[in-house]
Amino acid sequence: MSIVADNLHHKRLQDELIERLCVTLSGYLDQAQIDDCVRAYEFGADAHIGQFRKSGEAYICHPVSVAITLAEMRMDASGIMAAILHDVIEDTPVSKKELANRFSLEVAELVDGVTKLSKIDAKTQTQAEKQAENVRKMFLAMGKDLRVILVKLADRLHNMQTLGVMPPEKKRRIARETLDIYAPIANRLGMSKIRHKLETLSFEAMYPMRYAVLMQAIKKSHGNRKKVIDNIEGMIKTRIGQSGLECVVSGREKNIYSIYKKMLVKKVHLAAIFDLYAFRIFCETVDDCYRSLGIIHNLYKPIPGRFKDYIALPKANGYQSLHTIVIGPYGKPIEIQIRTHEMHRMAESGIAAHWLYKSDDDKSSKFQARANEWLKDLLEMQKTAGDSLEFIDNLKVDLFPQEVFVFTPKGDIIKIPRGATIIDFAYAVHTDIGNACVSARIDQQLVPLQTKLENGMTVEIITAPWARPNAVWLNYVTTVKARSSIRTHLKHFKQQEAISLGRRLLDKELQILHLHLDTIEEVQIQTLLKVLAVPTFNDLLEDIGLGNKMPFLIAKRLTQDDINANIKLDDQDKSQQAPLIIKGTEGMVITLAKCCHPIPGDSIIAYFNPGKGIVVHHHECRNRSVVRKKHPNWLDVEWSPDAAGDFPTELRIEILNQRGALATLAATISDQGSNIENVTVVEQDERVCVDLITLTVKDRVHLAQIMRRLKDLPIVLKITRVKG
Ligand code: MN
Repeated sequence: MSIVADNLHHKRLQDELIERLCVTLSGYLDQAQIDDCVRAYEFGADAHIGQFRKSGEAYICHPVSVAITLAEMRMDASGIMAAILHDVIEDTPVSKKELANRFSLEVAELVDGVTKLSKIDAKTQTQAEKQAENVRKMFLAMGKDLRVILVKLADRLHNMQTLGVMPPEKKRRIARETLDIYAPIANRLGMSKIRHKLETLSFEAMYPMRYAVLMQAIKKSHGNRKKVIDNIEGMIKTRIGQSGLECVVSGREKNIYSIYKKMLVKKVHLAAIFDLYAFRIFCETVDDCYRSLGIIHNLYKPIPGRFKDYIALPKANGYQSLHTIVIGPYGKPIEIQIRTHEMHRMAESGIAAHWLYKSDDDKSSKFQARANEWLKDLLEMQKTAGDSLEFIDNLKVDLFPQEVFVFTPKGDIIKIPRGATIIDFAYAVHTDIGNACVSARIDQQLVPLQTKLENGMTVEIITAPWARPNAVWLNYVTTVKARSSIRTHLKHFKQQEAISLGRRLLDKELQILHLHLDTIEEVQIQTLLKVLAVPTFNDLLEDIGLGNKMPFLIAKRLTQDDINANIKLDDQDKSQQAPLIIKGTEGMVITLAKCCHPIPGDSIIAYFNPGKGIVVHHHECRNRSVVRKKHPNWLDVEWSPDAAGDFPTELRIEILNQRGALATLAATISDQGSNIENVTVVEQDERVCVDLITLTVKDRVHLAQIMRRLKDLPIVLKITRVKG
């Protein structure tokens, strides 16, 4: 084709696209709104002028195609305009402000939201981190306005449709990302139509050969199957018609990607899959659905255990339908789905159906409420999640929902994601129950809290008034609700611990000055709070406990007449202090340093780590000099004589590199009542192996005893304790 003809061809395509968009829009928008969309198109075409897609067509064809997808879902006018303009901020000099002035703030915000989604922080390193950060952004955007995500999904769909001549490697990467992120999101939002399109396109991009072979096989089988399908369809129609019900029956072709997955997962042969016939029956009312089911079960024999009632118990993404498998006329299994037209629209468009059928009964608003609730949970989770990777881990459970139904002792059904534990269940029942649970019975048997739930279990939670959530639980729980509740509680608990430690520290300082916290007058406290601009005394104590404020400074200020005086501390002030007694069981505000692993009996020193509390080091810790520069104000500390517990410490051991050496070592250590927490091989050659072993001990005496025993072993060449 000549360049002129090429240009003409592309111009015609562009005209066709905008024509198609307008026709689709005229199906549900009024003329003024359509005019606005055309105005957005003219502006966008102008802004993108001179830019081309890889295929050679004008860039504006891409956003218009995205808008068409959304118009087919009946997206509102602002959403359509945003779709047409979605790449303008990113790829042209047009600013958000200009969009707001020219169109509306709503449109400008939407375009800005889509633009922000595609920008990834340069800080994020690995592919996994990038992906996680991407998803996190998407959900933040979604929380603000769901339309942003709908534009993004339609954008991705068109990009997948136009992958074209990209290098296979790049195609595969984009397809992988689509399968990992975009298709599950579409699924979670109940948009099965867009999800299937994304999956099919990704499958084709990732495995072009498998796709081609499978596609051919499907086409071939289609001819052979047609007669059987028509036959069964006719029988079902006649029988339902005889009972006076109105319904539509249609043979259902399976999605190519789901066929492929079935072949992979269930290891079934293609022939076995084609042996399965699938039908859908669409009814007017819910009542008709159940009556049709009765008729079908009367016509063909149902396979026991294969009936699923998603009408009474909708899936987490809002999907509703009756599923059953029956034995058909040729002895072949037939899958049948029965649903109302309304449910079908919901299943196809999901969350987008909110715009689609706004005026309908309250079903769509119920659906919207469910989606909103899910989003609210996600936002809560993203606030408490440590980082993007953790967030995405949690999210995966929600994106690939496979529910399990369990019962409360009263017989109520609770729906919970597969893989959820008793703790998740407890929080699903009520936050207070989760916070106070200590153990549980499943079907009358006592079981540990981390037990995973399975369908049909009756779960009874045992609570205790003194119980509280444990940080370890975070390793077991899978649901958003449990995770964020535990985190919130731990945060609160840390605050309580910090206040009590702050009180101890302040009181200790006052005692040096021969005073006591109880004898300090309220007015002095109030004056100091005002000077420091701290709202309450507890806030001040918390600040001290967390290491944000030095206790001796506060003590001095409390006891001075002129508390505005600027106090400077020198070493002399410090030497007057009595040491703080450490038990090692204080909780989250006192931590034992991981570099030198101090244990009871060691000489120890400590410093305030602002915001985190007190960190205790061995007095010979090699990191000390480094830390000392950062923390000029050390705190004198001493082990309490009754410090008890299992304290981790680290040994560097050189042993002969021979078979069974580590096993002998481990046996000797456990003989001494100690646990090995970690083993790292630092270096080794044919003769010698150097290991770092983290083990728990009661105190210095216990450690010395273990080290003596180890030295006695003929395989051990050298042992040293690691102090930083
Ligand atoms: Mn785009």
